[in-house]
Amino acid sequence: MLAATGLSARYGHIHALHGVDIRIGEGELVAVLGPNGAGKSTLLRAIMGLSANSGEVRFRGDVLPRSDAVAVASRGIVLVPEGRGLFAPMSVSDNLELGAYRLRDKAEFARRRDRVLTLFPRLKERLGQAAGSMSGGEQQMLALGRALMAGPKLLLLDEPSLGLAPRVTGEILETLGLLNREGLAIVLVEQKAPLALELAARVYLLSLGRIVAELDPRDITSHDDLARHYFA
Ligand code: ATP
Repeated sequence: MLAATGLSARYGHIHALHGVDIRIGEGELVAVLGPNGAGKSTLLRAIMGLSANSGEVRFRGDVLPRSDAVAVASRGIVLVPEGRGLFAPMSVSDNLELGAYRLRDKAEFARRRDRVLTLFPRLKERLGQAAGSMSGGEQQMLALGRALMAGPKLLLLDEPSLGLAPRVTGEILETLGLLNREGLAIVLVEQKAPLALELAARVYLLSLGRIVAELDPRDITSHDDLARHYFA
């Protein structure tokens, strides 16, 4: 579905990605794990064409533009950034609507909105509430809901569990599993390895801007195992 080759990115003199290659199969859920500063967020941004970068990204055979994130999003690749990128003073309902701002088909809009509110009933109870006044978990649900309103084919998620209590993280991951089983391809960036390993079909380990291992989660039986791959 997606193949990125030779992705490099820099911020001034900081070289955040060094020639990264990754591929995502149709309907696959792939995790990208790595410590702070490994370049995980930069990798997602580079796929969107948001970081100053070089390399090539192909999506279903077409080369994606490198500095036009709107054009990338219009192909169905949707990023939920770390920090969620919600419009805090706006209502839950308006934030959801913004996710589908290009959609003209009213029936399809209603269908997507119903689906999101079924997946996240808590959003349904809070449609008029300002996004910024919701709990962290609710905000993450809204960020996901807004992304789903765009009708994604590939979802890029930057640490959806960040700062959330285990229970709400569990709920969100369960929903991601469900969406994936329905055929949605997902790239899940996480620092919390066990959570990502439960869901992922394949795992990339990123360290200092390089992919240092590509693993089958079934081959990782302990944290030590992961660490061994990491520091090999
Ligand atoms: P974290 O898990 O802490 O979010 P990460 O793996 O997502 O880390 P990135 O945020 O991609 O890592 O950062 C990779 C490197 O690029 C780091 O050294 C970081 O300091 C640097 N970097 C990221 N964004 C910027 C920026 N806007 N300006 C300068 N340097 C940046």
